[in-house]
Amino acid sequence: MKSDWSMNAGKAYTIIIIACFLSVVPSFYVYELVNGWGLLVNGTLRLELDLGRIVLFLLSIAALSCLHELTHAVGYVYIGKVPWKNIRIGIMWRSLTPYVHCMVGVRADVYKIAGLLPVIYGIVPLLVGLIGDLKFFYILGVFMLMGSYGDLLMLWILRSIPSGTLVKDHPSKLGCEIVEEY
Ligand SMILES: [Zn+2]
Repeated sequence: MKSDWSMNAGKAYTIIIIACFLSVVPSFYVYELVNGWGLLVNGTLRLELDLGRIVLFLLSIAALSCLHELTHAVGYVYIGKVPWKNIRIGIMWRSLTPYVHCMVGVRADVYKIAGLLPVIYGIVPLLVGLIGDLKFFYILGVFMLMGSYGDLLMLWILRSIPSGTLVKDHPSKLGCEIVEEY
């Protein structure tokens, strides 16, 4: 069986950043088609930017990012039956990014489900925003969905790994190393 189920970090980040850029215009047009942004009023650009909303937006991103990581942990613990003591939760202070790391091998199918679960923090606000014509939620959803691109890329890298294979986070690359073949 193939032994390398990972992608080097530079290549992975490049793909993720390109995917984020490519998402901006379609996201804009979908909302424009459904609700209209209302950016132009009588031919002048109208931006509803105030400091309170920006701060609230950033706090929401921070809170949902923590929930995103915790949800990975919940997946490992409640679906994969990994004891909490084997889960490391922390913040990488240099990039202010929360992370969750499972210290033991889990079945590849559990790893994939745990990877996919936090996508709800993108999809739910996005749909709420789109259906309710609430730009704040829509943009929040788009950002949170972009925050799942790394997890989605990981799912793609692992797409053909046998479900029962025991895997662990790769120490330096995006993807997994095999703990035990199935
Ligand atoms: Zn994630």
